[in-house]
Amino acid sequence: MIATLKAYGIKDPEVLRAMGTVRRHEYIPVSHRHAADPYGDHPCPIGHGQTISQPYIVAYMTERIAPKKGEKILEIGTGSGYQAAILAELGADVYTIEIIPELADHARDVLAAEGYQRVHVLTGDGYKGWPEHAPFDAVIVTCAPEDIPAALVEQLKEGGRMILPLGTGMQRLVILLKKEGRVTVVNDLPVRFVPMVKGR
Ligand code: SAH
Repeated sequence: MIATLKAYGIKDPEVLRAMGTVRRHEYIPVSHRHAADPYGDHPCPIGHGQTISQPYIVAYMTERIAPKKGEKILEIGTGSGYQAAILAELGADVYTIEIIPELADHARDVLAAEGYQRVHVLTGDGYKGWPEHAPFDAVIVTCAPEDIPAALVEQLKEGGRMILPLGTGMQRLVILLKKEGRVTVVNDLPVRFVPMVKGR
């Protein structure tokens, strides 16, 4: 898996180390582990119609937000907990929100079993963010909204960065920076994520 990531252009040694350390198969529920090679460069099903993202996309998004030790990162769409583990492995304090209670419970269990105590999982609607723990140094969204959720921009620190897939059907990764009160948005890679569902 690491050789593939390098071949695709992932360079950050810390990101490569984290990707080589986190045990990806553990995050895939046992009932779905047979469905696909956990270390192949493709998404894997995790139940409830959701998937754990392809390793390259996880590494790419992580490299683009470049989390540093001790930074506070908000993730929307905990899913299996894998992306959260990668961020924690880099020394970040991770706040992650998942709307499907069974997946949030699963992620909480695996992250605890794998020893990631700096990850906090909230069962809830990501559109609201997590105001009690704001502001965040970076925000990473792993489901695709149609528009940039305003609460997430609000909860981003001055100087903070956010990466998210945007749109329906054809999506683009978008990188947003908040500097001197101003927000700049730059289009990046085309991607395909599950939609970010509106809160119930
Ligand atoms: N980052 C995950 C993959 C996420 S798949 C991993 O590493 O495994 C996208 C996830 O976003 C799904 O689990 C889906 O339930 C969740 N999701 C969709 N809409 C959401 C919302 N409004 N708030 C929080 N989570 C949401």
